[in-house]
Amino acid sequence: MKPGRANRSDVPGGWDVVIGLEVHAQLRTEAKLFSSAPNRFGGTPNTHTTEVDLGLPGVLPVVNERAVELAVRLAVALGCTVHPLSIFARKHYFYPDLPKGYQISQYEEPYSTGGCVPVRLDGELRDVPLTRIHMEEDTGKMIHDVAVVGADASHIDLNRSGVPLVEIVSEPEIGSPAEAGAYLRSLHSILRWIEVSDCDMEKGQFRCDGNVSVRRTGEAELGTKVELKNLNSFRFLEKALAYEIQRQIGLIEDGGSVVQETRGWDERTGRSVPQRSKEDADDYRYFPEPDLAPLRIPPDLVERARESLPELPHQRSRRYEQELGLSAQDAAVLTEDRALGDLFEATVKGVRQPKAVANFVIRSVREVAATKSRGLAELAIEPAHLVELLELVEAGRLTAASARDVFGVVAETGERPTEVMRARGLEAVSDTVELEQLVDGMLEDHPDQVAKYGAGERKLLNFFVGQVMKRTGGKADPSALRGILARKLGD
Ligand code: ADP
Ligand code: MG
Repeated sequence: MKPGRANRSDVPGGWDVVIGLEVHAQLRTEAKLFSSAPNRFGGTPNTHTTEVDLGLPGVLPVVNERAVELAVRLAVALGCTVHPLSIFARKHYFYPDLPKGYQISQYEEPYSTGGCVPVRLDGELRDVPLTRIHMEEDTGKMIHDVAVVGADASHIDLNRSGVPLVEIVSEPEIGSPAEAGAYLRSLHSILRWIEVSDCDMEKGQFRCDGNVSVRRTGEAELGTKVELKNLNSFRFLEKALAYEIQRQIGLIEDGGSVVQETRGWDERTGRSVPQRSKEDADDYRYFPEPDLAPLRIPPDLVERARESLPELPHQRSRRYEQELGLSAQDAAVLTEDRALGDLFEATVKGVRQPKAVANFVIRSVREVAATKSRGLAELAIEPAHLVELLELVEAGRLTAASARDVFGVVAETGERPTEVMRARGLEAVSDTVELEQLVDGMLEDHPDQVAKYGAGERKLLNFFVGQVMKRTGGKADPSALRGILARKLGD
């Protein structure tokens, strides 16, 4: 992968934009980072907790080894340096969602530095460098919803308190909102692909803060940055950054300057609003966590992580382009999601035409999964069934439209495509005698159109095809039908 200039078409001329993203991802563990309480979304408030998560005095944190394994797996996947020794630190601030009064995080010595996220934008693949990844615990959640707690109260739910997080910090080297969006999508896809995080954004398992500054093109020094909090959808991220860039440029063009601060994105008004002026690291009074020994990551843990790593989405996508001759676009879609990619992978082995499989998986499989609004993994899709289905299409026994219908049933019931086709009477009419009779009848019913066709209105061919399709309920084998029509019409 070569570093290069990404598309900057969404950045105003004469200006350079600098973006650095901080992403929090919840690790997919059974238990919390420092306690045995379950790491599970939802539930009755304050039930997924132990004394540790409640911040009661006199208890000690114990590091969850599985969390460390997953964090290492991510670092290895992104080509980061994993440090054999790192330090947990206390980061102090006062807020009710933080019962201890400090968050256990990593500060001066994180477990991982360097590495990069492969980012695809407009067909170009570029590595965005990372500063660091560190581990930390999640905080609890305040509940202000009037409908739940009334107008004069706020409640606190500590179920999330202590859930293991990795924070992935990029270098300030992202150059446009579109590139920031592509970065976030890539990171999201990799985290899910390697099963380090479920990254369900609606459950807050993948959250992003965006730092952004502007400077006039050619200026060497970075501009003053503003931090945008909680850009928790891909669309919000790009919209919020674009808005903030315009705001900063406007300030400077009017002779003012950007103030370093933290702002929040208000989706309702489509604007960013000040939240607080930026605190310095000093305000957090960081110091090493005395209740935890330095975190040791032995080389064999890193080695095992490396060995167990699957082929990553961008690697697989490149292989699909090079070995299977798929377009970059198709290859990218097929590697967005592991379940989809694996289904394609298993199906394509049994079929001669990778492109036909790719087309069917990209259009029909995704469409069916979307209409049933369930994950692919929950549908009863066997690669062998897909192979059988595509063979039926290739043999002209199923039309494309019927294939999609058959697939919808197969995905639901796990029945064999041939059986579904027969049971529902969806087999294509490719029997020549039958088709000829249908064509004859249809032509007799449309003498005017036949005459016009004879006079040169060739586009009427589609009309004739459509008429026969109607009479067969869309089941006429299109290529056989076109052949017969051509013959009957004297072409
Ligand atoms: P802070 O100490 O304010 O948290 P850091 O140096 O830790 O700042 O950087 C936090 C994030 O902000 C990183 O992702 C980094 O890439 C980004 N960043 C730093 N400086 C700038 C800047 N001038 N413009 C845009 N992003 C920046
Ligand atoms: Mg920071």
